[in-house]
Amino acid sequence: MKKLIPYARQQIDETDIQAVVRVLRSDFLTQGTAVPRFEDAVSRYCGVKYAVAYSSGTAALHGACFAAGINKDDEVITSPLTFAASANCVLYCGGKPILADIRSDLPLIDVSQIAKKITKKTKAIIPVDFSGIPADYDDINQLARKHGLIVIADSAHSLGATYKGKKVGTLADMTVFSFHPVKLITTGEGGMVVTNDRDFYEKLLLFRTHGITKDPQKLLNKNVGPWYYEMQELGFNYRLTDIQAALGISQMEKIEIFIERRTEIARKYIAAFKNEKHFKTLKFLKDRTSAWHLFPVLLTPRLVDYKRQIVEDLHKRGILVQIHYIPVHLHPYYRNTFGYTNRNYPKAEMWYHSEISLPLFPALTKEEIKYIVTTVLEEMQKYTVKLQT
Ligand SMILES: *Cc1c(COP(=O)(O)O)cnc(C)c1O
Repeated sequence: MKKLIPYARQQIDETDIQAVVRVLRSDFLTQGTAVPRFEDAVSRYCGVKYAVAYSSGTAALHGACFAAGINKDDEVITSPLTFAASANCVLYCGGKPILADIRSDLPLIDVSQIAKKITKKTKAIIPVDFSGIPADYDDINQLARKHGLIVIADSAHSLGATYKGKKVGTLADMTVFSFHPVKLITTGEGGMVVTNDRDFYEKLLLFRTHGITKDPQKLLNKNVGPWYYEMQELGFNYRLTDIQAALGISQMEKIEIFIERRTEIARKYIAAFKNEKHFKTLKFLKDRTSAWHLFPVLLTPRLVDYKRQIVEDLHKRGILVQIHYIPVHLHPYYRNTFGYTNRNYPKAEMWYHSEISLPLFPALTKEEIKYIVTTVLEEMQKYTVKLQT
């Protein structure tokens, strides 16, 4: 039986395992020193002042929306071409996610579409760094400043990417990362928000632990006693454990190696497919680098009708390609709640219909890459011949 090749997977070595074991032998499995050390590692790497670890990327997005003050009736603009969590976090706060379609040349939110969706109720923008490519932050920030909006980057795909020489993490008011095993580094489940803003930072800390503070400076009732703490906001238990943070610290030591390896694989794919007429790949861009979380290929319109068969055949041949993403507005919950129909966001839908994500992760071997390239070319050829007959 042939080995199955997933579209993404974690990279864990013996030092990661030993780091976790050390915490398991220590006094604190949670609320110890590993979480702040992990936060320091990520904030130093990104070049930002503050970082707050969360139990998942989704929880981190929720925290960022809370810190941004998203409330009932506030509108927040995000991309339809994303994982549901980018929009759900707005709903968690009682706000309304508003979708703005993607660019025609790249899977990134189109700033001219954002501009059209801004109303008096708009409070924030959540751009998504799809597949690891930073969104158009100069234009987004300019628009946000003009209208007094907060920018929350959903950078679940793009830890380590750069935009005009600046690291992801420094490009928005708050930046959210995910450490799910398919992402750039992993803590099992986990997430983080980074920011340079002290006020956001304090709100993010409060929200992560039930809205409770023990900081004597911040207590409303002073001098009650050594046991005293106050719940000042309605927060959650969104803490990351020290077990997970230890894994995160160990993974952060390898982030540059991971991205280099991902970039090298992407370069190989692009070169191997450069003469392909039946599908396109993303290209390297001049003004920004991708973290290459995903490797999307786009079928030409004529092959789109065969996409399901192509995907099923690739799965049968052990290549577990995935599709990113079912646009947010096409999910039953969003259709039913907001009355979306097909064709509301034509560019995101076109992307969804033509996209296939090939396997991309640091541990892919030379042989596996070769097998993927050959098999994908064979499959495409098979259906192209069908088109011609
Ligand atoms: C993975 C992901 C999330 C959510 O992260 P979790 O850690 O799985 O909760 C949010 N947005 C995008 C774009 C993602 O890919």
